[in-house]
Amino acid sequence: MSKRRTLVAGNWKMNGNRADSTALVNGLKQGIASVNNADLAVCPPFILIPLAAELLKGSAIAVGGQNLNVNKSGAFTGEISGPMLKDAGCRYVIVGHSERRALYGESDDVVAQKFKAAQDAGLIPILCVGELLEEREANKTEAVVARQLDAVLKLAGIGALANAVIAYEPVWAIGTGKTATPEQAQAVHKFIREKLVKADKAVAEGVRILYGGSMKASNAKELLAQPDIDGGLIGGASLQVEEFLNIGRAA
Ligand code: PEP
Repeated sequence: MSKRRTLVAGNWKMNGNRADSTALVNGLKQGIASVNNADLAVCPPFILIPLAAELLKGSAIAVGGQNLNVNKSGAFTGEISGPMLKDAGCRYVIVGHSERRALYGESDDVVAQKFKAAQDAGLIPILCVGELLEEREANKTEAVVARQLDAVLKLAGIGALANAVIAYEPVWAIGTGKTATPEQAQAVHKFIREKLVKADKAVAEGVRILYGGSMKASNAKELLAQPDIDGGLIGGASLQVEEFLNIGRAA
């Protein structure tokens, strides 16, 4: 089958204010016409989502959250739910980012619950999976990624992946400037797809698997050329208009 349409999603993390986010979003809006072969999305911090959604209304650039609570509403001080993100104009939400797993103790089970909560709210989860450096060095990459995926498959079922995005993000490559080589990334993407093929071939062939980890304009083309790499989840490089657009243009 033909390759899936590329998705390039920017994870702004805890960066930005109203002024620089306005400039960034307006720059992307101006440049999107020259991005022909990729969908773009931005995932601002919660408080900047309404601003980005308003500025992007009617444009082809989608908005996503970076996290959500597993509950719909209630006494969860400081938290944001899936229905709130949907109401604010989000199409996507990142779940299981390695920073959430490492810094906020999100287990595979919690990530799976967030995945399901996202879909229950009508959002498309971008499910992050990926191994630590010591896990790669111990040849545990496939086991770790399989375990992270299995938690979601067990709770939500393979059919749920028809309306989701996966992001393979080797933790050692995130924010470090150390990108996985296209061959290293492709090998894991292929492993993920083949694992899913065993459960449902059509779902496996349709699901977009993004690469994340120090992806930038200068290395995007080679990564995106790999048969099982269907886009990128971009941290640092998503904060610069031309850099982010050029990743999209590399598709
Ligand atoms: C990320 O946080 O998802 C990420 C890939 O970050 P960076 O591009 O900065 O490595």
